[in-house]
Amino acid sequence: MPELPEMETYKSLLQPLIGGKKITEVTINREKSINVPISQFKAQVENQKLETIQRRAKYLIFKLQNGSCLLLHLMLGGKMFYGDEHDKPDRTAQVRLSFGNQHLYFIGLRLGYLHLLSQEMVDQEFQDIGFEPLNPNFSLDSFRDMMNKKRGKLKSTLLNQEFIAGIGNRYSDEILWHAQLLPDKNIPDLDVAQINNLYELMRYILHLGIQQGGYMDPLYKEDNKTGGYQMFVHNREGEACPRCHAPIVQKEISSRKTYFCNNCQH
Ligand SMILES: [Zn+2]
Repeated sequence: MPELPEMETYKSLLQPLIGGKKITEVTINREKSINVPISQFKAQVENQKLETIQRRAKYLIFKLQNGSCLLLHLMLGGKMFYGDEHDKPDRTAQVRLSFGNQHLYFIGLRLGYLHLLSQEMVDQEFQDIGFEPLNPNFSLDSFRDMMNKKRGKLKSTLLNQEFIAGIGNRYSDEILWHAQLLPDKNIPDLDVAQINNLYELMRYILHLGIQQGGYMDPLYKEDNKTGGYQMFVHNREGEACPRCHAPIVQKEISSRKTYFCNNCQH
C-alpha cells in the first residue's frame, strides 16, 4: 500500500501536470470506486479547474474550482498513471479524469476509492488522524509526550494512523531497522535516547523515501523519479542485513509481514 512518501511523490509530480487545468471529462468504470451516483459525480467534476493537490496521511485531496474535493485513498493495489491510451498500463482503470487528450487513470481501485466531498466532509474524515511526522510543528517534545503516554508495541504504534499519520507496513520496518529497535518491543521499555533516535530516524527515512521517489510504478511514460527508493529490510527475507550481515527475518506482527534483523535490532 502506498504510504506517505509515495503519496507525496504523486502529489509533487501531478501538481505541474494537472494543477490549474480543466477536467474535461470523467469516466467511471466502477461505480463502487466513487461515493455518489455517476451523474452527480460528472456534474460536479466535469469542466471544473483542478486548483491544487494536497496530501494528508496516505490520502490525496484534489481541490476543484467549485470548492468540491476529490478524496483519494489507493489502499492495497491501487495506483495512478498519467498519459494517453497508448502509454497507459494494460489494465482497466476504474476511474479516469481527462485533461484534453491526456488522462489521469486510477487503476486497481478495489479497496481504494475516489470520493466527491465538500471541504467540511474532508475535514471530518481527518479529525481522528494523528500528527504529520514531517510537519515542522511536530517537535521532538511532542513526540516524546505521545510516546510517554503510549502502551503497546512499536510496530503497531507506528502503523496506528490515529497516533501518527502516513506510516504503513513498509516504512515502519525501514524506520525500526534504522533505529535498531525490534518491531515487537514494548514502548514503555524504550529509554530517552531511543525515543529521540526514533524521532530523528522516522523523519530521516520518510524524507529519504520522498527524495528517492518512493516505491510505486512510474506515474507517466518518462517518469524516472517514482520507484527509486530501495528498501533496506522490507521484503528482503534471507538477504544479508546491510548493517551486520546477519540474515533478515520475516515474522507476522500485528497480522502484517514484518521484516527485521534479529541480530542488530534490540
Ligand atoms: Zn543486522
